[in-house]
Amino acid sequence: MKKINILIYTEDVLKDAALRGNELTPKAYPNGLHAGIAGAFDSEKYNVRAAGIDNIRETITPEILADTDVLFWWGHCHHHEVPDDIAELVVREVNKGMGFVALHSAHIAKPFLRLIGTSGSLSWRLNDSEIVWTAAPYHPIAAGIPTHFKLPNEEIYSEPFDIPAPEDTVFIGWFSQGMVFRSGVTYRRGYGKVFYFQPGHEEYPIYYDETIRQILSNAAGWAAPQARRDNLNCPNVEPVV
Ligand code: ZN
Repeated sequence: MKKINILIYTEDVLKDAALRGNELTPKAYPNGLHAGIAGAFDSEKYNVRAAGIDNIRETITPEILADTDVLFWWGHCHHHEVPDDIAELVVREVNKGMGFVALHSAHIAKPFLRLIGTSGSLSWRLNDSEIVWTAAPYHPIAAGIPTHFKLPNEEIYSEPFDIPAPEDTVFIGWFSQGMVFRSGVTYRRGYGKVFYFQPGHEEYPIYYDETIRQILSNAAGWAAPQARRDNLNCPNVEPVV
């Protein structure tokens, strides 16, 4: 079976944590965020490559995107540094069929906002426990995921979440301080599939959780394109009959 090509875009959260004197992030991700996310993907089934804000011109190119089945995007402090032309390149590739998974604070990442067309705004508060409910057990992203599971520590993201009505709301998060959030939502854009998934604050080892890893792996399988356009031109056609 052909392997699925994954590209994971992250920021250097260890460097940012050191600048701010944050001690939680290096404990949660001693080898950086990429290593934590990449661990979700079995090397028998997936090829994983890394992209980052510090070398974005080398790691996100038309050639690399054309060879990527699913792009995972985790960004937080450096959204504004992502060049507009690269965000546009990602959107065009999604329209051609590449899958796109926006993780956690990528709710306001440039490519995600261009794909959904709204502000991505939400309310937030630090640190609470979260119960993630599987609202669409029939969905391929929910395969093998229990009816609900608990994350002992996560950043609170709360409604209202300014997104267009999703195709499916696969997960709903409930926080013990009372907030709720559409934690896993899907869209289709052009030939491509898009998934936003809320858990993944960098101060807690969320991406080492086995259930979270299963969801990421399921999301890659779901979002990998079954058909891909070569270009987005409008070809002139001959009469069919
Ligand atoms: Zn966060």
